[in-house]
Amino acid sequence: MEVDLALVGFGGAAALTLIELAKAAVPDLRVATVDPAGLLDHGKRRTWAFWTGAVDDLDPVLDAQWPAVDLHGPSGVRRLDLSPGRYAMVRSEPIFAQALQAADRLGSVTIRASAAALVDDGSSVEIRDESGTAVAAARWVLDSRPARPVKPGHTFWLQHFRGWWVRSEAALFDPASAVLMDFRTPQPARGVSFGYVLPTSAHTALIEYTEFSPARLSDDAYDTALTAYMRLWNLNDLAIEEVEDGAIPMTDGVFERRPSARVVRIGTAGGATRPSTGYTFSAMRRQAREIAELIRTGRDPVPSAAYPRRHLWMDAVALHAWDSGLVAAPEFFERLFQRNPAERVLRFLDGRTTPAEEFSLMASTPLLPMMRAAARVTV
Ligand SMILES: Cc1cc2nc3c(=O)[nH]c(=O)nc-3n(C[C@H](O)[C@H](O)[C@H](O)COP(=O)(O)OP(=O)(O)OC[C@H]3O[C@@H](n4cnc5c(N)ncnc54)[C@H](O)[C@@H]3O)c2cc1C
Repeated sequence: MEVDLALVGFGGAAALTLIELAKAAVPDLRVATVDPAGLLDHGKRRTWAFWTGAVDDLDPVLDAQWPAVDLHGPSGVRRLDLSPGRYAMVRSEPIFAQALQAADRLGSVTIRASAAALVDDGSSVEIRDESGTAVAAARWVLDSRPARPVKPGHTFWLQHFRGWWVRSEAALFDPASAVLMDFRTPQPARGVSFGYVLPTSAHTALIEYTEFSPARLSDDAYDTALTAYMRLWNLNDLAIEEVEDGAIPMTDGVFERRPSARVVRIGTAGGATRPSTGYTFSAMRRQAREIAELIRTGRDPVPSAAYPRRHLWMDAVALHAWDSGLVAAPEFFERLFQRNPAERVLRFLDGRTTPAEEFSLMASTPLLPMMRAAARVTV
């Protein structure tokens, strides 16, 4: 089978790209997807939280949204007003449902296979499965299979977490506000931990225990940490309806965005994960829109980097400062939010600030230790 575009790996990045391609309505575009799990989100189910403006295409399918969020830092709780924006949450199910409709509209072919090799001859790419059989050939491949950095960085941490979807008989939660980062959790010897609470109604919430640190914990350790965190809120004996686990790379290692002429990496594999936070969703959406626009206008589907180089350098410095113990992450985040409008910090984390704004952000962090970390980091 020959197509114009093959999406190899069908997770978040590919689903968002397919949705944008269907919106762009490029005539006669031949598309295929290659994933052992097909187009369904079974096994890939997750919740995506992100900040957005007053209006968003995803408004009809948002699970929850909060105009303000709380940060529990070392010196107490601080409410961050995000207006006119908001922090929002969408579950993967409606995104994958939209992607299925998009696949129908595009007449996309679903190939259930595990891609083992992408053989690029410069004008087309042969996609081979694990037995070496060619399952498709494509003029372009957008590859989102998990990949490791090609160039190691100074720090390789994970954002790893466990969340419980809980339900209470009594109205315990305030759906108008969420807890974004709560550093009252016991801090690990290396790394940082925090909890968060994302209510979707007065009776339901997603409560998570998260660490930024070198390695995942055991199942028992996550459960113990989450139970202890819920105790801080006097939340005991709630019904746990679902469990969400995850691990996202946090590294200044370099992800190869274009491993060969006609293979372009997207999603986490293509560097869409922000190294200092693990946030990925907004960058994946941005790149999906850009890819669709490039194809619509007859150009090569090679999106720009998810984040400016100077942001990646700042993230490398921050990660190194935390990892080497030069700066404690709870103080770092508290100072950022204390000394800058929340909206600016969030725009920075999305990769959308100007150099002047970044100067103010840098100036609000503990300068001397950050300068020592910067001296040790080169990108
Ligand atoms: C539980 C969880 C929650 C998250 N929450 C947030 C959040 O709130 N906000 C945020 O910004 N980011 C979040 N992230 C980070 C990021 O948004 C997600 O990881 C997102 O799904 C990344 O999309 P992706 O397409 O890069 O990777 P994935 O969604 O992981 O997709 C990769 C795909 O590749 C397929 N694949 C693997 N091997 C092969 C192969 N050999 N051949 C073909 N296909 C293959 C897999 O089946 C999968 O479908 C979260 C991550 C996790 C794990």
